[in-house]
Amino acid sequence: FSSKLPDVGTTIFSVMSALAAQHQAINLSQGFPDFDTSEELKDLVNVAMQKGFNQYAPMPGLAALRETIAAKVQSLYGTTVDADTEITITPGGTYAIFTAIATCIGMGDEVIIFEPAYDSYIPNVLVNGGVPVLIPLAYPDYHIDWALVKSKITTRTKMIIINSPHNPTGTILKVRDLQQLEHIAELHNLLVLSDEVYEHLVFDGVRHESVLRYPNLLKRSFVVFSFGKVFHITGWKMGYCIAPAHLMAEYRKVHQYLCFSVNTPMQHGLAAFLQNPAHYEALGRFFQQKRDLFLSLMQDARFTPLPSQGSYFQLMKYDQISDEGDKDFAVRVTQEIGVATIPVSAFYQDGKDDHVIRFCFAKKDNTLERAAERLRKL
Ligand code: GLN
Repeated sequence: FSSKLPDVGTTIFSVMSALAAQHQAINLSQGFPDFDTSEELKDLVNVAMQKGFNQYAPMPGLAALRETIAAKVQSLYGTTVDADTEITITPGGTYAIFTAIATCIGMGDEVIIFEPAYDSYIPNVLVNGGVPVLIPLAYPDYHIDWALVKSKITTRTKMIIINSPHNPTGTILKVRDLQQLEHIAELHNLLVLSDEVYEHLVFDGVRHESVLRYPNLLKRSFVVFSFGKVFHITGWKMGYCIAPAHLMAEYRKVHQYLCFSVNTPMQHGLAAFLQNPAHYEALGRFFQQKRDLFLSLMQDARFTPLPSQGSYFQLMKYDQISDEGDKDFAVRVTQEIGVATIPVSAFYQDGKDDHVIRFCFAKKDNTLERAAERLRKL
C-alpha cells in the first residue's frame, strides 16, 4: 500500500484549533462562529425529532427542503432549478465539493485551481487521480488573470474551480469574471465547480454573482452551498449541491455510495427555517458589522488589512511586526499573545509566504474586542 496523498499532512484548521485549545488562546483561526445558532432553528429540529423523523432521509435529500431551496434560488437569483433532479442535500460543503470532483475527475484530468485555495481542493483532485493546475491569484488584490487562465488550458483540462466569496482572501468575483469564465468554459467545454458556501456574506451593498445567475455557465456547473456557514451550524455538517440534471444524475451515483443520505431531523428543521427570507437576507449586514468592528479595533495595531468584501475572513499583513514566516508567526502569536489565526501559506501547495495571516471575525463582539486588545500589543 502506498499513500495516495504522500505530501498531505493534517489540515491547518485542525492544527491551529488544537493549538488554540492547548494554549487557551482566542480562536480566530478555523472558520466557525463562537455564538449559537437561532433558538427557532433548534426548536424546529427538536420538533422534528419528537415527531419521530429519525430514520433515513431520501438519498437526494428531503423533498420539502429541496423545494424550499428551489424557491429561494428562484427569488434570489431568478433561476429555475428542478428540486427533484437538480438539487442534492449533502453532509456539508466540503463533502459536496469532493463528490463533484469524484464524479467527474479521473486519471490525468487537469483541474484549474486558483491559489490561495481552500485546502481540500488539491487533495480532492489528487486522490481521484487528477492533476491540479495551479494559477496564482494576483497579490495583493487576488483577482483572476484570465489571460493566464487561457494560457494554462490544454486538451486535458476538464474542470475549473472558482470560489466566491473567497476563502481565505474575502474577495468576490465580478460580473466580468463570470463572463470571462463563461466564454472560456464554453470554448474548451470545461466543467465548473463553484464553491459559494459564503453566498450571503457579501458586504457594502454589492450583489453576489452566483453561477446560478448565468444559465450558460450553470448548464456545465456544480454549485456548492453550506447551511453551516450561513446559519451558524458548522457542527451539523449540512450543505447542498445544485447542478443540471444530467450532471446531478452522475453526482448522485457517487453520493449514494458515499453517505447515502443526510440526517433527517436537521433537514426538516432547515426546510421550515429557510422559508423565511429574513433568515438569510440580514446575514450580509450582520457580518459586515463584524468586519467593520474588527477593522476599527485593529486600527492602532501594526497589522495592515487587505480588503475583505465577503466571507467571514479578514487577511492582515504583519510585515511591520516581524519578518518570521507566517506559520512561525501564527504559532508564536497563539502561544505568546493568545490569539490563533491561519497562516495563508497553508493555502498554497508550494507554501508561498506573503507574510499574511487570516482572521475569522464570525465571533461575538466581545471576543473580537479581547482579541484586538491582545493583538495591539504586537
Ligand atoms: N472552511 C473553514 C475554514 O476555512 C474550515 C473547514 C474545516 O475545518 N474543514 O476555516
